Amino acid sequence: MPPDPPLEAAVVAVVAPAAVVAGVDDGLELPHAVATSPATATTDATLVNRLTCDLLATAPHSAARPNIATASGARRDERAYHEAVTEPRPTLEQIRRVPKVLLHDHLDGGLRAQTVIELADEIGYRDLPTDDPVLLAQWFTDGADRQDLPKYLDGFRHTVAVMQSADALARVARECAEDLADDGVAYAEIRYAPELHQSGGLGLDEVVEAVTAGFAEGSAGRPITVYSLLTAMRTAAQSLSIAEVAVRHRDSGVVGFDIAGAEAGSPPTRHLDAFDFVRHSNFHITIHAGEGFGLPSIWEALQWCGAERLGHGVRLIDDISLDDAGHATLGPLASYVRDRRIPLEMCPTSNVHTGAAASLHTHPIGLLRRLGFRVTVNTDNRLMSGVTVSGELQQMVEQFDYGWDDLQWLTINAMKSAFAHFDERLALINGRIKPGFAAVRAEAALPA
Ligand SMILES: [Zn+2]
Repeated sequence: MPPDPPLEAAVVAVVAPAAVVAGVDDGLELPHAVATSPATATTDATLVNRLTCDLLATAPHSAARPNIATASGARRDERAYHEAVTEPRPTLEQIRRVPKVLLHDHLDGGLRAQTVIELADEIGYRDLPTDDPVLLAQWFTDGADRQDLPKYLDGFRHTVAVMQSADALARVARECAEDLADDGVAYAEIRYAPELHQSGGLGLDEVVEAVTAGFAEGSAGRPITVYSLLTAMRTAAQSLSIAEVAVRHRDSGVVGFDIAGAEAGSPPTRHLDAFDFVRHSNFHITIHAGEGFGLPSIWEALQWCGAERLGHGVRLIDDISLDDAGHATLGPLASYVRDRRIPLEMCPTSNVHTGAAASLHTHPIGLLRRLGFRVTVNTDNRLMSGVTVSGELQQMVEQFDYGWDDLQWLTINAMKSAFAHFDERLALINGRIKPGFAAVRAEAALPA
């Protein structure tokens, strides 16, 4: 039986043969996407030239090992492209209106501050630092922005404390779906750790049922699909039970399994029985790796635990060296991740807050995108880091001079990498994302 056609099958026909040979699938989305945009149809030649430059700069050369790419050259091409094409820079308001995809976001890190206060009041929880929602939101962000993952995680004790009943979980999940839909998110995978929500007496399955009901209610009548990823705490010993719950709910909105929590000292291989169970069940795995710890964590996640995606993965740059001329040399692990098109669930602002990246401007996503890794942009914790999906994409525009092509490439990367079934992903790419971007881009290109 022939393999499934790649998502970009339709694209290949409009791309120069030299580019096709390079086979960097994510890049091939560019010309097709722009060709469908009436406002930019005349720029195809420029784009194909630019694409070819990108591919030549980033494609692995069979005769050239170690794996070398010209990051600075691609950067120059990118600048020249932006100058040559007069398409205006995306604004935050426009970004909010294009259909977006979110793969890495924690339910207990994205509550509305007002909801935290109201839920605390309902159960008599008195440990909140303030009952002013604006000050509380600021308190969370200040606490998160301490360049240390364990300190970053500290604020979760308050959000988790108020999420211990079915009603509270359903409310938080409903509001999560509403807020994401309001931000223009078309597809989201939201993760949470059921074992953290049992102090009120709920069983693991009851936690999942409450959250699933909340997502369904919040999504009803809104153009958004929200699925769950179940997370096991890497510092605890319940991962196999959580994996079993995840698989049990695979037909009711749970699409994968994850581990999270303080990374250093808790390698993913501690949970091999859980990962084996998930894989043997033909189910999906993503693992927080390369955030609070380096390459060994990423390597274990991929080669021992079977991770299909990497949560963050920013420390992958430890396996990439740059010389003075901007030539990048990829080590074997970085090459493997790029060659296998392993998605990186990058969360720029969160990574700065935890200290995994020094600043947004120097965030590894800029380099990794130029080198052709399959990067995606995510929020991680919308309350803790004070971010939205649109806001994070806008930061990419600000920090890396990204245009519409880049934002659409990131979005399609994310949709391709989702754990939803293939036909659903394809329908969203062709039925929502591409037409949605084309419409906003066409409107944005019109003279004011
Ligand atoms: Zn995370």
